[in-house]
Order: sequence, then structure tokens, then C-alpha cells
Amino acid sequence: MLEDKNPQRTALENLGEFGLIDHLTKGFELKRSSSLVGIGDDAAVMDFKDEKTVVSTDMLVEGVHFDLSYMPLKHLGYKSVMVNLSDIYAMNAVATQITVSMAVSNRFPLEALEEFYDGVALACKLYNVDLVGGDTTSSNKGMIISVTAIGSAQEGEIVYRKGSKPNDLLVVTGDLGGAYLGLQVLEREKEVFKVNPNNQPDLSPYSYIVERQLKPEARKDMVELLKKLEVKPTSMIDISDGLSSEILHLCKNSGVGCNLFENKIPLDPTVISTCEEFKMDSTMVALSGGEDYELLFTIDQGDFPKIKGNPNLTVIGHMTEKSEGVHLITRAETKIPITAQGWNSFNT
Ligand code: ADP
Ligand code: MG
Repeated sequence: MLEDKNPQRTALENLGEFGLIDHLTKGFELKRSSSLVGIGDDAAVMDFKDEKTVVSTDMLVEGVHFDLSYMPLKHLGYKSVMVNLSDIYAMNAVATQITVSMAVSNRFPLEALEEFYDGVALACKLYNVDLVGGDTTSSNKGMIISVTAIGSAQEGEIVYRKGSKPNDLLVVTGDLGGAYLGLQVLEREKEVFKVNPNNQPDLSPYSYIVERQLKPEARKDMVELLKKLEVKPTSMIDISDGLSSEILHLCKNSGVGCNLFENKIPLDPTVISTCEEFKMDSTMVALSGGEDYELLFTIDQGDFPKIKGNPNLTVIGHMTEKSEGVHLITRAETKIPITAQGWNSFNT
């Protein structure tokens, strides 16, 4: 963070649009057998044989979704891909291709976009997806990024938000709240830096949560784990907006209610200590924080022995009849209705 920018600054005008696209994408190769034609024609061509195609898009706007004063461009490239792959994994599908579109103003030199594409390339490599296209255009002010992720799955493997039934167990991967708290730490250090630019922050006590914010990982590994354990969730969603809003989506789409147990919500020790420091309630942070990119899913009770004891999977509640509503059962065993306090992008 706040590291020196690449000293070389090549103006984008020097390359022209086609030169820029060529330069940024020349290192990308097609590795997937389903990628028939990638960058270079009017459209990419894919072949998924007898599998269904899954497509998802997200847009990220500078000043709304990211702040370049503490988000290195390489991380931004990586995260832009992750948030999209996460949606493909939330369908229980395999992510196979992406397209990357961006609008940039001429305040960005070529070297900045190279850094962004380094992050995209790393994500493609680690997650085994091909970059097959995109669009490049100019913007008057900030940077806008839109990534589309494409994946495939057998029809019977796809998991929707609908499909859970009363008595199904509610399960979450990993732990929650870290990404939001990491953002709080970065925002605080940004304010300190504004007052005293010589004050280099020591972020080491917060490295886990800062990484959760700046370099999230989509849970490809969890989709693979569930396949190995022979567990097909009855419903699934990824946690982009916060646990409460995602639970409400599953409940609404499935026509069920839910009891979520406060004492079961998985929290990293750094989340707990940073909540104390910021005088925030860790349950609220997990419920409303967002950007954790974990998977939230429901399973039939009969599948419980298959996931039991796995440190990556935590049962945090169970589904009920719709008429019972959606509730948080607190440590004091009081029942509080869950409302959508999840991150709302129109509130900023
Ligand atoms: P068109 O005029 O048909 O929109 P472009 O000149 O924008 O075509 O793009 C040429 C090729 O480069 C296409 O294959 C397109 O998908 C790809 N492309 C353009 N911009 C990007 C980008 N930012 N990242 C990856 N591929 C890109
Ligand atoms: Mg174009």
C-alpha cells in the first residue's frame, strides 16, 4: 500500500487503442479445450459440448467500489476477476473464461494498466480460466471495470438460490467479516496519511483482514471439496453483500425461513480483536460487512456426516417453514428478526 508507483509513465495516446489491447493481452494464451477462439476477432467462440453455460457480470467503479489510494492496481485486477469467479462457483459450476472491459482516463499511464493486467493474468493462471475478450474505452474521470465470467456444468450439478427446504442445514465456508474490517483499517490509515504523509502505517497486525479486502480468493476449492465429499447443496449463494442479505436471498428464493445461531458464526481472531479496537460488534460486522466472497449454502440433514468436522465448513443454522420467519438466535437465546442491513451500494 502507498508504495511508489512505477517510475516510468508511457502515455496511452502513444499506443492507440489497438496497440494498447495488443500490448496488454499478448501474454495470454488459451488453455481450456472449451475456448475455441479468443481475443482478436469480433467475438470469442466457445464449445461446452453437452454442458450448460453459466454467465455472470459485475461492474466496479472507482470511488464507489475501490479506492486507488490504497488498492494497488495489480490487486484490483486480481479482485475484479475473483468477484466474478465467485458467482460462477456459487452456481456449483466450473469457471472457464472471462472477458475484461475497462474505461480509463488518460491520467493512467500504460504501466498502470500493465499492473492491472498482471493481476488479471495471475487470477487466470491460478484459477485456470482463459481471457477471451473485452473492450477498452476512455473515461472522462475515474476507472470503470466490467468483468464477465463464463463457466460450465452438467445440468444436474447446477445449484440455484431456490431449492432449500425446511430442516436443511445452513453452512458457510471460511470465516466472515474480515474484508469489511480490512477496509476500515485501510480507510483509517488513509486519513492518518493525509495528515502526516511521512507516517508509514504498520499494518502487520491486520495482515489477514487487509488481505481479505485487497486480495480475496473465490472458493473454487470449496466447490471441488463438495464434489469430492459427494455433497450437492440444495441452494447456494456467494457472500458479496453480507451474511444477512444473502440468507434473505436464499429464504426468499426457496420459500423458507431460517434460524441463524450467533455463537456459530465463524470469525477469525483478527476480526474479533479488531472489532474490539474499533468498538464494533463482530456479529454485526459478519452480518452486514460484505465482500467476504465465501459460499453460503444449504444441505440436506442426511449429508451432515459428510461435512462434519471439516474446518472449512461451519453449520451456522437451519432452514424452517416460511411462516417461522428469518431470525438470529443470539448468545443470550433471544430471537431477533434478520433484515437486509447488508452492504447497499446505493447508500454510499
Ligand atoms: P470491436 O471493435 O469489435 O469492439 P475491439 O477492437 O474492441 O473490437 O477488440 C478487439 C479484440 O480485442 C476483441 O477480441 C476484444 O474482445 C479484445 N479486447 C478488447 N479490449 C480488451 C481488453 N481490455 N481485454 C481483453 N481483450 C480485449
Ligand atoms: Mg470493442
